[in-house]
Order: sequence, then structure tokens, then C-alpha cells
Amino acid sequence: MKIEFEEAREWMVSAQIARRGVNAPQVLDAMRSIPRHRFVPDESQAYAYDDTPIPIGQGQTISQPYIVALMTQLLQLQGDEVVLEIGTGSGYQAAVLASIAKTVHTVEMLPELFERASRILGELGYSNILLHGGDGSQGWPKASPYQGILVTAAAPKPPQALLDQLADGGRLVIPVGSRGSQVLQVWEKVKGGFSHEDILPVTFVPLRGKSGWHDGEW
Ligand code: SAH
Repeated sequence: MKIEFEEAREWMVSAQIARRGVNAPQVLDAMRSIPRHRFVPDESQAYAYDDTPIPIGQGQTISQPYIVALMTQLLQLQGDEVVLEIGTGSGYQAAVLASIAKTVHTVEMLPELFERASRILGELGYSNILLHGGDGSQGWPKASPYQGILVTAAAPKPPQALLDQLADGGRLVIPVGSRGSQVLQVWEKVKGGFSHEDILPVTFVPLRGKSGWHDGEW
């Protein structure tokens, strides 16, 4: 079984990720080594390396492997960064970030998912991931500024609190838009303000909380 998962990961990296143009070696190495099957529900383990998002309970999903890889690459991490993730979910994206950056802070608002991610990341021995419970649409000011912020749920617009918590030269990777129409954006804190760029259309669950989508809007 272990060998099968390793082979599946190799295939995932070559056929789904590298072939589509994500080629940062640290990102490919991380995705080759992290046991994604441990992060999905037991009954979905056989599909863990498929080219698709997977439900993780509470109406939430773990993103398609290619999207995890692309978003990670867009942060342009070198290894010494403090990074913030909003939407811990399964904990998989946090694990990918933690195998590249120095420290990862990740915020989840649903207690069931927070508990599960915390248990799995503990079992796998990640000591540089700090999990926080609460509304991540306001970021996590205490540990700011961040060289990278990655949001894994779609926001109506990039929350000002997240832009405010970026370090100079830091990058925010965030899906922006509504249920039917979203684009992945990269915001960078440059001299005198922020630059931003649209990357590609995406489909994410909604960011909730103060600067997210409210009941009835999504
Ligand atoms: N990064 C996750 C995917 C998470 S799906 C993974 O690798 O598995 C999006 C997650 O964002 C869900 O778990 C959802 O509960 C969470 N979320 C949505 N709005 C949030 C908010 N305002 N603060 C914190 N978490 C939020």
C-alpha cells in the first residue's frame, strides 16, 4: 500500500502538476513527499492523488493537487519565511507550505476541521505549523507581518486586514469572486501600495467571517 501511494504521488507530480507548468523544485519535492492520503477522509484515500478536489466534511473541500501546487509556487518562497494560511481545512496545504517555509500560521473557523487537522499534523510530526481557531478573514495580526499569505476560500475582495499584514515585498494569493465566478489573484506589497495580477479562473468554497461572504449572499 505504501509503495502504491508513493507511485501515485509521482504520477500526480509529473502528470498533473509539472506538465501544467508548475516547476519550482521545492514545490514538487514537497508534493512528492507529503502523504496527501492521510489528510482526506478514510473512505476517499483511494482517490487522494486524483486530479480533483475531495470533500473533507462540513461542506468543505481539499483543493485539487495542481491548485495547491500553483498557489504555493505563486508565493515564491525561499525557505526563511513566516507564512499565513487562511482556511486550514484538512491541513494539507499547511503541510505543503511548512515543508518549504520556516513557520506557518494557519487559521480555521470550524472546530471539527481544526481538531482533525491538528491531530493529523501532530501525528505527522510538523512542529513549524501553528494552528489557530477563529475568523481568518481578519488575518492573524499577532504574528504579522507575513512574507506570504495564502487564502484557500473565495473572498468578495481581498480583505484589507490581510493586505495590512503583509511584509514589504510580501505576496497574498487569494481566490476572489462569487459562487459562479472566481479568479485567483496575487497581490504584492510594493513601494507606495500594492500591485495585483489575475492568474486563472478557479472554484473555491466561500470565505466566511467579517470580510467574507455572509449568509444569503453566496
Ligand atoms: N487549505 C485546505 C482547504 C480548505 S477549504 C486544505 O488544504 O485542505 C476552505 C476552508 O476555509 C474550510 O475549512 C473553511 O472552514 C475555512 N474558512 C472559511 N472561511 C473562513 C474564515 N473566515 N476563517 C477561517 N477559516 C475559514
